[in-house]
Amino acid sequence: MRDTDLYRYLLGVEDPWFVSEVQLDVKEQRVDVWIEHPKGLQWPCPECGAEGTLHDHAEERVWRHLDSCQFQTFLHARPPRVVCPEHGVRQVQLPWAKPHARFTLLFERFAIEVLRHTTIQAGRMILRISWDEAWHVMERAVQRGLRRKPERMIAQLGVDEKSVGSGQDYVTVVCDLERSTVEEVTEGNNCRSLQIYFEGLTDKQREGIEAVAMDMAGGYINAVSGSLPEGREKIVFDRFHIMKLMNEAVDRVRREEHKRLTDGGSSILTGTKFLWLYARERLPAKHWEQFSILKAAGLKTARAWAIKETLRELWRYKSRAWAEKFWKRWYFWATHSRLAPVKKIANTLKTHLYGILTYSKHRITNATTEGINSKIETLRKAACGFRNKQRFRTVILFHLGGLDLYPATH
Ligand SMILES: [Zn+2]
Repeated sequence: MRDTDLYRYLLGVEDPWFVSEVQLDVKEQRVDVWIEHPKGLQWPCPECGAEGTLHDHAEERVWRHLDSCQFQTFLHARPPRVVCPEHGVRQVQLPWAKPHARFTLLFERFAIEVLRHTTIQAGRMILRISWDEAWHVMERAVQRGLRRKPERMIAQLGVDEKSVGSGQDYVTVVCDLERSTVEEVTEGNNCRSLQIYFEGLTDKQREGIEAVAMDMAGGYINAVSGSLPEGREKIVFDRFHIMKLMNEAVDRVRREEHKRLTDGGSSILTGTKFLWLYARERLPAKHWEQFSILKAAGLKTARAWAIKETLRELWRYKSRAWAEKFWKRWYFWATHSRLAPVKKIANTLKTHLYGILTYSKHRITNATTEGINSKIETLRKAACGFRNKQRFRTVILFHLGGLDLYPATH
């Protein structure tokens, strides 16, 4: 077998193309392969498929291909240009690469596979490509994935902000809670950041959104209320976020009381900070005895803790009417507790009650979104930051967008 035939076989070069020359550079560990086609062929127009005669050839182009025996392999060819009666002179679509690509389809598929499983830095070392080329592959893959993405219904959304680096620089991450994928990443963490996402949807998709899980952030509330039909009724405030606020209120009560008690010579609250944060049923057994003594000591902190723990019940109700009945009792208790931090949170929750009681119908939280956010954080650290937010978006959608990234090969 001649080396040209061998390479045609190895590279999967299809008819009518054949390998005309192979140059091996052992020192550079590089193989250059020239591909040509026989004369006198008809070529399909890339626009309409109508066959036409050869007009001329474009300049020679080079594509990086899969390595052969660890040698970097490059394909060379002059793309034919065809005359179409309707579309004029057009460059023929080549079977091994997309227009304007620097790599063959097979190399691009392999590069995507590698980049999906490693950092950009490690990926470009394995693939022996530059930073720019690695970005090029990822950006093209994401664009391809977004173009192919079907217009589908997203019933449950999760929205959260994500810090881009240091300081007050944020993006908004919108997740599909059922598929656990990132739908979109937009600039900033305000009303506009989320509006932009909604504007990119069709009317049917906007109507199809049934519920949106989020923290009690004003910007996002306005965006959902203003952009979705009956938007306000679709907001579900994340219960973990609410319980975090309650825990902070309990801790504020504890700190004040601890200070007063230590001034009076008692150290009963020393080292107890974390005990009050546990959910009742999660308290480790080794703390049970100490905790029962604390609870029986008539402390304000214990009262705040009991109010906090009782609030958890709110999310057990499947009937909105019962949840509301429970809420009224709890609110009365919290606001008559003479514990200022608890009262303050109770009032915050009252003004947001519309989005708390919705949980009885849409049982969603931001847990999925936060899981995705921690994956994003891993990507951010691995990349040692990004030149701009557009690149941050590309990386997030590449890894977490659930997109069909690979170019089709036939
Ligand atoms: Zn045509």
